[in-house]
Amino acid sequence: MSKLPLPLRDLVEQLAGFPGVGPKSALRMAMTMLKWPREKTRNLGQSVLDLRDKLCICSGCAGLADNDPCEICSDPTREDDKLCVVSEWDSLLIMEESGFFRGRYLVLGGLLSPLDGIDSGSLEFERLRKILGGGQVKELILALGTTLESETTGSYIKNLLAREFPELTLTRLAQGIPLGSDLKFMDKETLRQSMRYRQSI
Ligand SMILES: [Zn+2]
Repeated sequence: MSKLPLPLRDLVEQLAGFPGVGPKSALRMAMTMLKWPREKTRNLGQSVLDLRDKLCICSGCAGLADNDPCEICSDPTREDDKLCVVSEWDSLLIMEESGFFRGRYLVLGGLLSPLDGIDSGSLEFERLRKILGGGQVKELILALGTTLESETTGSYIKNLLAREFPELTLTRLAQGIPLGSDLKFMDKETLRQSMRYRQSI
């Protein structure tokens, strides 16, 4: 790669930073871009910039949005008494694509993982506490997957609720989810079934 002209090497090195992209595919991508009309390249660059400049974090659910509050949080037809907690925003997307959940969401921003330095302070527990304090939520649904980190996070939330909101029902997606799996890799039907047969915890 060191023989590449500098601008090309620079781009290839950055593209190779994407998950699943090695130096060879990065070079192929860069070469494809070189063949594009100038306008198309400029559009790509602009989209990358817009990603940081025009996206915001919704002040309601902490998800990514182009408006604050996001479409889901500002939708009056959603059920206020059900709050679904997901770890990352892409899990929310998958739930929404399936279209069977009509409640509201909270995106935690990750899962508790003390070894990786992700403790309760780095996640949206304060926001959760604030939403629950509003008193509208009657059921909190954990859709966190079945990894060790999701279990740890689930227990943390369970303790928090037991202490501060004992009247709240806490459920989780039914265990149709294969153990050790991340929510975002589930197919829609499995997800639908797990929501339908969710269990009290
Ligand atoms: Zn929102």
